[in-house]
Amino acid sequence: MEINLISDTVTKPAKGMLQAMMNAEVGDDVFKTDPTVLELQDKMARMFGKEAGLFFPSGTMANQAALKLHTQPAEQVICDKWSHIFNFEGGGPSFNSGISCNLIDGHRGMFTANQVIAKINDKNNIHTPLTSLVEIENTTNKGGGACWDLYEIEKIRKVCDENELILHLDGARLFNALVAKNESPEQYGTLFDTISICLSKGLGAPIGSVLLGSHEQMKKALRIRKLFGGAMRQVGYLAAAGIYALDNHIERLADDHRRAAEIGKALEKCRFVESVEPIETNIIIFYLKDSITKEDFVKYLNAKNILLHSMGEGKMRMVTHLDFTEEMLKVVVDVLKTV
Ligand SMILES: *Cc1c(COP(=O)(O)O)cnc(C)c1O
Repeated sequence: MEINLISDTVTKPAKGMLQAMMNAEVGDDVFKTDPTVLELQDKMARMFGKEAGLFFPSGTMANQAALKLHTQPAEQVICDKWSHIFNFEGGGPSFNSGISCNLIDGHRGMFTANQVIAKINDKNNIHTPLTSLVEIENTTNKGGGACWDLYEIEKIRKVCDENELILHLDGARLFNALVAKNESPEQYGTLFDTISICLSKGLGAPIGSVLLGSHEQMKKALRIRKLFGGAMRQVGYLAAAGIYALDNHIERLADDHRRAAEIGKALEKCRFVESVEPIETNIIIFYLKDSITKEDFVKYLNAKNILLHSMGEGKMRMVTHLDFTEEMLKVVVDVLKTV
């Protein structure tokens, strides 16, 4: 039995999901005649109290389309130094939109309204890039699945309103945050201009993200998606996986969070582990003692069929997900005791 804790993207579609995909009614989505895609977009927009949604093949494309939608070349987005758009989208902000990132030195991928204020350039100063957008990530990826305080986001929204800035949410794992903090999608729909959400992370779909916003914004985003090469045809087969995920895989994220916390406890007792970062959702980041190399630690766990990810900077990562069962949890906890 292989236990893969590398990422929550390693899940394979469950039987029920495959069934839903096989039975999907499809059409040519470029002609807007795929009923299942339209259903997914509407369903998500309604959940978040937004006017419209747009289906994307990846979260990267959804985020990049949002940046393009909200900016003109030479403008600037304020985001955290650990943000996915800056670190893990291949330099997309500069390549796709010709914009730069003004990085905040945040805490676990999160920052405060005051830190945003300090990064806003004076509109009347022609020497500095025009600030047009603030971007937030919830949960934070590099920050180890940390969840934002909704109160701080409200304050940032206010700062954006006062300075005529757009606010975009990279909600790749937003449902993990909603479940962990018992918050509602509408609360987020109200606070952000646009939101991107991954169906292929904790929700367990094989592919897909949805961008949410106003009718006008999604009309523009459709043109950008075409420009990025993301116009798709009978893609209802994939949208059906997303609908199934929304109907069946949200509440159960609490199991992933509980299992991650259990692994965290076992790691804290492990003699080779220096420290474990606070675990709020399904991502566990920990550091090893000098008495073991990360290669030896990984090799030992691999020999027990446990796969994990080394993130560099001394960070080790495990991520729980839909295909990580209670039985596998017992094995991991036992193996950690014997390292
Ligand atoms: C996974 C992820 C994305 C999107 O990644 P894709 O692999 O392109 O779907 C965006 N933001 C964050 C924070 C992520 O973790």
